[in-house]
Amino acid sequence: MNDILPGDIAKWHFVENTARRIFHIYGFTELRTPVLERTELFFRGIGDDTDVVEKQMYTFTDKSGTAVALRPEATASVLRSVIEHGLLGTDPIQKLYSMGPMFRYERPQKGRYRQFHQINVERLGEDSPSSDAETLSMAYALALALGLKGLKMEVNSLGCDDCRQEFKRALIAFLKDKEKSLCSDCSRRMKTNPLRVLDCKVVSCRQAVEGAPAIEDFLCEGCRVHYNKVQDALRSFDVPFEKNPRLVRGLDYYTKTTFELTAEGLGSQNAVAGGGRYDNLVKTLGGPDVSGIGFAFGIERIIMLLDHHAPEKKGCFVVLQEDDAVQAWALEVLSMLRTAYIPAEAAFKKSFKAQMRKAGKSGYPLCIILGQAELEKSMVTIKDLRDSSQIQVSRTEALKKIRSMLDKQGEKK
Ligand code: AMP
Repeated sequence: MNDILPGDIAKWHFVENTARRIFHIYGFTELRTPVLERTELFFRGIGDDTDVVEKQMYTFTDKSGTAVALRPEATASVLRSVIEHGLLGTDPIQKLYSMGPMFRYERPQKGRYRQFHQINVERLGEDSPSSDAETLSMAYALALALGLKGLKMEVNSLGCDDCRQEFKRALIAFLKDKEKSLCSDCSRRMKTNPLRVLDCKVVSCRQAVEGAPAIEDFLCEGCRVHYNKVQDALRSFDVPFEKNPRLVRGLDYYTKTTFELTAEGLGSQNAVAGGGRYDNLVKTLGGPDVSGIGFAFGIERIIMLLDHHAPEKKGCFVVLQEDDAVQAWALEVLSMLRTAYIPAEAAFKKSFKAQMRKAGKSGYPLCIILGQAELEKSMVTIKDLRDSSQIQVSRTEALKKIRSMLDKQGEKK
């Protein structure tokens, strides 16, 4: 679990604001849920034979004896909220996003934390291939807007319950004589959740699944047509993608379209986003029989990739001489600047030299110097910290001049 320190916060704001901007363009609105939910929600939603639920949930019993869990992912919580508030009754198409911390008791490593943050999208009430492709294209648009490099979008279809049953049977038959080479998790999963064996990272498991049947060959007519149309629509949206028949995702609820987005520079944990369609989940959680699709970006992984410097702070540092009259005047100047929405700071009770040092480190382009000389002449000294040039202007002209110098700073960049 990490602290997010002031030195990094500009990156976080950039990521969050970019996501809001892109989602707004696609007509999505924000929904926020609590971080704590009844444990049962995740058992029903995610599936009790997934790593996330089986091993990684932070759960406890609260004072009333209710089993609660820190959310390990957002989809189940968002759907719980949509169902609880009858949002689909108000509008049968819900296009939602949310952001916030998720909790999984995983083995910590670079890019994998126990508290991490996701940007999450859920789209409910539409089942057309175009809505799949549009959702994937929104994920891609966000990755581009964030400036991520070496993007790779991999897609697959996991079919519906019918075609998946047949595929599972074929996969189990294939894995039967490979059981000895599977890790202990996979030899157990082979019976309960064989699809998960396909994306196990253990080398012997990877070798064992070479030549395994591909789900695409088992898709029923409806799922096959859907998958083909999603691919056509992705081409229309100009989203480059590759098919990956091995792509199964860690949570049980996915049906039909699934995808993962990877980026250059992350090492082995290179997925920045993943998601897919979940046509049975709303119903499973006690809602109406409507389909859905969604995805999640991991914010920490995006932050690791950002070559993004804090934007220039547009504002002034006010440096004042130690003197009661100057002090009173400085407070007026600070108020005047702030009333004009110009960021302004001062460091009271520090020597003049220390204040100048602080101004230099503040990141503001301008420094306003107020001393007895200025007070007597009714002038203000403005120092441009970029090139160390200095001018004096009358008090009445000061605000106008500061504004124009700040604008010029912006142009210079
Ligand atoms: P998932 O909810 O497992 O489909 O993950 C979606 C995205 O969340 C992944 O592509 C990662 O970017 C991110 N993510 C998942 N688990 C973690 C974690 N433990 N630490 C950091 N990021 C994570």
